[in-house]
Amino acid sequence: MTFTRRDFTRLGAMGLAAQFVPKLGAQDAQAKTGYAVIGLGRIADHFLRGVLDTTNSRITALVSGHRDKAERIAVQYNVPSSSIYSYENFDEIAHNKSVDAVYVALPNSMHAEYTIRAAKAEKHVLCEKPMSTTVADAEAMIAACKAANVKLMIAYRCHYEPMNLLAVQLIRDGNLGQVQAIESSFGFNIARGEWRLNKQLAGGGPLFDVGIYSLNACRYLTREEPQHISAFASTTDDDGRFYQVEENVSWTMKFPSGVVASCNTSYGTNMEGYYRVYGSKGWLEMRPAFNYEGQHLRADFAGTQLDIPGATHDPSHFQAQADHLSHCIQNNSEPKSPGEEGLRDMRHIAAIYRSAGIAI
Ligand code: NAD
Repeated sequence: MTFTRRDFTRLGAMGLAAQFVPKLGAQDAQAKTGYAVIGLGRIADHFLRGVLDTTNSRITALVSGHRDKAERIAVQYNVPSSSIYSYENFDEIAHNKSVDAVYVALPNSMHAEYTIRAAKAEKHVLCEKPMSTTVADAEAMIAACKAANVKLMIAYRCHYEPMNLLAVQLIRDGNLGQVQAIESSFGFNIARGEWRLNKQLAGGGPLFDVGIYSLNACRYLTREEPQHISAFASTTDDDGRFYQVEENVSWTMKFPSGVVASCNTSYGTNMEGYYRVYGSKGWLEMRPAFNYEGQHLRADFAGTQLDIPGATHDPSHFQAQADHLSHCIQNNSEPKSPGEEGLRDMRHIAAIYRSAGIAI
């Protein structure tokens, strides 16, 4: 039996792929959750556009070190000049009633400070991955949000992406039999001058940035936490980019059920973000798995072949994320990817670096 995209759409209509994706109620559309965006870089641009497509969210403030840039974006998103903040006067956002939540889209090591400051201003937080650069910071972020009684969601967009959810469900329903092994990679050839190469801002190399997708995927595909981790790191290019962070990380994990996973990440070569899961009854592959769109699922198990080509997503991952957090705020429910989920990845990242002999 071979499934096509049309079959998948039909399955989707039956609720197979969509069952984890929250639906918006009529009540949500009435009171839109207002977001302040902190850091107006590349990912913030995707988020800003994603929010425009939601029915339950809107952009109500911007936080930037560049006033001119913020003014330009404010016009685009109908944000009043009085709702543009700098990093210095950010705490005044506490008095801005149009802001319910902040989206932290800053370099990794700044996530903790701005999440904690947002919590102190009694604003909910959507924080980009990686949640932080240390386990201690991640714990402090969770504690600050709990103390202020605000929600903390980590922007793991694949948790809200239908094809990744379908892969999780196919495995959970036992289609692959007992999962035995997972392979996953994600990497890119990084340009000189990126803050990602500055250890103080990034925390470390490609593992914090893109390897985290493979780590997180192995966890959501197995729904288990790795018990044993073994890792190597290396730098092969002596071209001035890797004085502070490593170029490559390769690690293996063993999960309690016996699943073994083998992952690679790199800043020295382009590695398409993918995973392949091998089970006793067959295999499943998502390639690409972690792009902003175009996920493509192939599988072959127990007489069934799946080939579901990627499509441009509607909603986009970014729209889906904003929808979800706004839904949680409006209905006082907990996000599917809370701070605790980010903390678990941070603990595993720390274990990977420990095993590779790298201090972070
Ligand atoms: P970027 O460089 O494009 O943007 C960073 C923003 O932070 C800029 O507006 C910059 O002006 C501001 N900034 C403030 N202080 C800074 C400093 N000291 N140094 C450098 N920039 C500073 O980065 P990005 O690619 O948008 O990444 C931002 C965050 O989003 C990172 O944590 C990254 O891991 C995450 N991210 C997530 C995804 C995803 O798909 N979820 C994709 C890309 C990036």
